[in-house]
Amino acid sequence: MQGFSELVQLSLIDLQIRSIQNEIDSLDDGRACKKELEAINQKLSIALAKKKQVSSLLDDLKFKYEKASSEKKKMETQLFSQGVSPKTISEIQARLASINSHIDEVETGQLEAMEALEKITVSCDKLQAMSDQKTQELETVTQKFKNMTVKGQIKLKELGLEREAIRKATDPSLLSRYDRLAEQKMGLAMVEITNNLCTGCQQPISVTLCDSIKSEPEEIHYCNNCGRMVFIRRTQV
Ligand SMILES: [Zn+2]
Repeated sequence: MQGFSELVQLSLIDLQIRSIQNEIDSLDDGRACKKELEAINQKLSIALAKKKQVSSLLDDLKFKYEKASSEKKKMETQLFSQGVSPKTISEIQARLASINSHIDEVETGQLEAMEALEKITVSCDKLQAMSDQKTQELETVTQKFKNMTVKGQIKLKELGLEREAIRKATDPSLLSRYDRLAEQKMGLAMVEITNNLCTGCQQPISVTLCDSIKSEPEEIHYCNNCGRMVFIRRTQV
């Protein structure tokens, strides 16, 4: 039958279009990566806020320490100056004891805060490195997605033109049979037979069908299982 080879060409192009479209649909658009980056950045901003808090606590403690130290010095000067009454001495000594214990407390607080600052700085640095890495990964994925999509669209356009040319050259009644079948068979109207298997339904074709395809390769034959048009490449006949 005339037009059979055009139908074969058309089916091959339709198959290619389908696979490129699937490829474009399954491309990683970076959404997952972006989500991961957002999660990292959120942790990072919490860690940075905590770092700021600990830093300001340290400043605060430093101020307290200096204030207490200078008061201590003043008291000590008073204590050792001449003509101080025993009563005043004991008052000063009591005050000094209280200042010393306050200084101890402040020093302990400073040590703790310094340790905390060290820890939080380490985790801030770690998170920052993770964030930088993820940002770069996202850029790569996004760029690849863009490139592949553009490439795919160009290829689709080319195939679309080829497809139109073949459709124009194909017998209209054959074409409408093809189109009707395509509608019924999820876009796959005509499929190849390889190793006696229909690639549309993955079922083996009957011996009778195999024989009639071989004896009349230019006729349209249908898979005895899924009903799609089938063809065998010449090299395999
Ligand atoms: Zn089949």
